[in-house]
Amino acid sequence: MHSPDQPPDIASQTSQLAASVFEELHIVPVASNPFHQTIERVVRAAQLIDLPHHQKLIFVQPNNEIIVHFPVLMDDGHHQIFKGYRVQHNNALGPYKGGFRFHPRICLDGAKSLAVLMTLKSALVRVPFGGSSGAVKCNPHELSNEELMRITRRFCSSISNHIGPDYDIPAPDLGTDKQIMAWFVDTYQRLTPDHDQQNSRGVITGKPIELGGSLGREKACGQGLVYVLDEMLPDFGIDIENMNFSMLGFGNVGIWTAQLLEDMGAKMVAVSDETGSLHNHAGINVKALIRYSEKNRGIAGFPDAEEISTDDFYRREVDLFISAAVEHLIDGEKAALINAPIIAEGGNAQVTSEGEAVLTQRGIETLPDILCSAGGVTVSYFEWVQNRSLHYWSIQEVDTQLRNHMVLAARRVKVARVRYECDLRTAAVCAALDHIGKVYDWRGIFP
Ligand code: GLU
Repeated sequence: MHSPDQPPDIASQTSQLAASVFEELHIVPVASNPFHQTIERVVRAAQLIDLPHHQKLIFVQPNNEIIVHFPVLMDDGHHQIFKGYRVQHNNALGPYKGGFRFHPRICLDGAKSLAVLMTLKSALVRVPFGGSSGAVKCNPHELSNEELMRITRRFCSSISNHIGPDYDIPAPDLGTDKQIMAWFVDTYQRLTPDHDQQNSRGVITGKPIELGGSLGREKACGQGLVYVLDEMLPDFGIDIENMNFSMLGFGNVGIWTAQLLEDMGAKMVAVSDETGSLHNHAGINVKALIRYSEKNRGIAGFPDAEEISTDDFYRREVDLFISAAVEHLIDGEKAALINAPIIAEGGNAQVTSEGEAVLTQRGIETLPDILCSAGGVTVSYFEWVQNRSLHYWSIQEVDTQLRNHMVLAARRVKVARVRYECDLRTAAVCAALDHIGKVYDWRGIFP
């Protein structure tokens, strides 16, 4: 385990600086607010790399925050009004880029936080995109296929003037998948019939292969995380082939990561999703669990493992704790339970500020979200390139290029850690901000 290396005086200077940035932007800080927590992270890194003050301000405030309300005909004949968001944080490096989710618990500040993280992710893996994020407040599990299609089409038409293959490019996220991307691109193309139809496919990524999607996009977040682990874990004396791990969350990222790690010889000994937690010291068969959870909509009741409580799940001793769930599950209390030398944030913002402080104090390293979860946007970039060039890549080509982007990004984080003498989570933000800061230095501020 590495010792905590952020001196306490830097931490207190950071909160003072964050407080003054909040004040200058007329934001009243709230400790539990996801966007405010992300701002604190950005401010801490910005301070370490000595980013000019005006760039700090540009960075913490999204460029555009779009809120839409739209009616949708439901199956029972009534019309329901839905709320949607699209937050476009920064486009200094290229078109805004980021997913959109269908989820009952969403808010503007949640979307703002994710949009900032997308800007950082794209910069860290050096894809020529900015960052954005979107959401529609709904519960996809309670909607029919027809209703989901109508919501998707109306959301697309509500924001169609604010997106485009050269301006803002959505993608899948929590509760949205390739079918939703297919309805979305179809709607966009019908609304813009005079655009070049091949090129306008690039308005969205994560599409089905038949509609211009890329091979490897579905597994991209998990595959990207595995490439990062392969690069980083040897530094901590951990061998993937012989390690055991816990998995928090068993959605797209968790499933793919667990499967790929199992193929490499690692053992998943504990897993948790919103239906329950499981443990098996001898290892849980990942492929059997995937089949089971697809059929039963969750892992609870899987026969070849022992059911345990959520707290017991956190307490299991493992070589690596992977978190690939909704944001902010690892708060101070859960961080105090974790029994692993390293956590990998396979999803965005898995750890709260309070959780981060506890982990640092306990000497637990965090491999950060903007690195570990950047495989998705990287293969989205490949999809967009393929849509523009009309040349489609083999899976080998996608994997090779993805590995290059992820390994180089991981090395950038390691270099930043040494250069700025900070933890890996801060180092990743430093490495990303450094890159965007240079773009602002060159371009200056218009006019
Ligand atoms: N939900 C993805 C993420 O958070 C979307 C990225 C993309 O492909 O644009 O990384």
